[in-house]
Amino acid sequence: MGLKIYMNGKMTDKEHAKISVFDHGLLYGDGVFEGIRAYSGRVFRLRDHLERLYDSARAIRLTIPMTIEELEKAVIATLRINKLKDAYIRLVITRGNGDLGLDPDKCSEPSIIIITDKIKLYPEAYYKKGLEIVTVSTRKNSHDTLSPSIKSLNYLNNILAKIEAKLCNAQEAIMLNKDGYVTECTGDNIFIIKNGELLTPPSYVGILNGITRKTVMKLAVKKLAMTVKEELFTQFHMYTANECFLTGTGAEVIPVIRIDDRIIGDGKPGKYTIKLITEFRKLTTSEGVEVFR
Ligand code: PMP
Repeated sequence: MGLKIYMNGKMTDKEHAKISVFDHGLLYGDGVFEGIRAYSGRVFRLRDHLERLYDSARAIRLTIPMTIEELEKAVIATLRINKLKDAYIRLVITRGNGDLGLDPDKCSEPSIIIITDKIKLYPEAYYKKGLEIVTVSTRKNSHDTLSPSIKSLNYLNNILAKIEAKLCNAQEAIMLNKDGYVTECTGDNIFIIKNGELLTPPSYVGILNGITRKTVMKLAVKKLAMTVKEELFTQFHMYTANECFLTGTGAEVIPVIRIDDRIIGDGKPGKYTIKLITEFRKLTTSEGVEVFR
């Protein structure tokens, strides 16, 4: 049996899971999404992801025609039918079919899509040796244009930054906001450690409020007794940090050892970073909504 995709209440074979060319998700990037993971048959932080999805939808005046509980059940049903225990889950809500104009009111019903698939990760070597990343010239969207807190289907800002990183043979791009403060990477939040203190940019600088970010901040306080601060910082603070790492649903916690050709700390994943990777991995295998009860 091939992979089944949840589409508007039905489990559809992968080959037949198609949306209309009039869907405004395709025509205008009008919609929202989430990336979630399941580890050993448990969905990690499912509620947090669903709440962020509903917040993103609310921010763009898109009413998801399902309750959060119904959507939660649909995610679990999709994993079950595909017998997936370790999976990446992509939830997509588009504005639905409209005409060729922008008007969202002309769209009939939002499309609800749940894709579950095997997870593709950064190679394990990067967790051991660390990433080499660069600051790019593409600035982060600002709150007064398109809020980075909305996980919308319009990811061009991040894609342009990713293209720049790839041109430099770097694994990720650090994006600054229009004032030159560090925000985040194209699909991950960023942290630095200086003198035992953990720093990450605050939400208002223009970031996605990462669920891994929140989890790691709590772990740093509870398990490593670290001071955690949400503070503005610049490239200078990254270059002079003792440690740096990124967080995200796909990447989990991943060390960074070089930024813009400057070596961070001693050029090896730092001791706090290594501990946080271990603590985070413990959590992913011990918590979460069970799929196969
Ligand atoms: N920033 C951006 C731009 C993202 O797309 C993501 C999610 N891939 C993150 C940060 C990390 O968020 P989370 O930990 O919730 O996956």
